[in-house]
Amino acid sequence: MSYIWATATHVGRVRTGNEDSVYPEEGGSGDGPLLAVVADGMGGAVAGEIASRLAVDAAVAADGDPETRVTAANTAIVEAVIADPSLGGMGTTATLAMFEEDGTVNIGHVGDSRGYRLRGGELAQITRDHSLVAELLAAGKIEADEVRNHPQRNLVTRALGMAQRVPVDTLTEHTEAGDRILLCSDGLNGMITDEEIAEILRSDDPPEAVAWALVEAANEAGGVDNVTVVIVDRVA
Ligand code: CA
Repeated sequence: MSYIWATATHVGRVRTGNEDSVYPEEGGSGDGPLLAVVADGMGGAVAGEIASRLAVDAAVAADGDPETRVTAANTAIVEAVIADPSLGGMGTTATLAMFEEDGTVNIGHVGDSRGYRLRGGELAQITRDHSLVAELLAAGKIEADEVRNHPQRNLVTRALGMAQRVPVDTLTEHTEAGDRILLCSDGLNGMITDEEIAEILRSDDPPEAVAWALVEAANEAGGVDNVTVVIVDRVA
């Protein structure tokens, strides 16, 4: 066995609907390949929920590498809007990871959902947010401690459904035994700091307990957004 995984998604304490979608929907274990996706939908009425669900379903159904799968997710949303213009303006983030039998993790990513890696107790963010605040931070126009409370912190600069073609960031991680990978929507990292996330991830508890501990921490911090996490432990 190479991987043990768990997923958790929760509406939070303020919103009435959960616009996040996640795959897989249940935890498990196996040698891989394992596909995992977090999508954080946006749009009026129920459109955000539809967008994230369409994206996850299309990404799971598509054959191919992460870029191909995320591109298929984009196309599914664009076509749904053409078929039903009342859904216009809906979109979603997508952070998709394929865990291979050899420990390689191939990631495709659009938007401000995140991938993190905990190795040896140290947490590293492995995706780059497509958000205004991330761009301002990279350009040196704001400081790291201004991000959390910035008035435009929710503004994403890239999302699925916004154009016929959306550039997909791709990256490859080479995991080691003991690594713990986290995918999450911004309802987690918007509510608690990376240091708080790291503290919870350092637990020896299995992924299922850790996933729900993260959700609980986000809700205790206010839970103003939907929160979704996938935890994948590389165990051998
Ligand atoms: Ca969100």
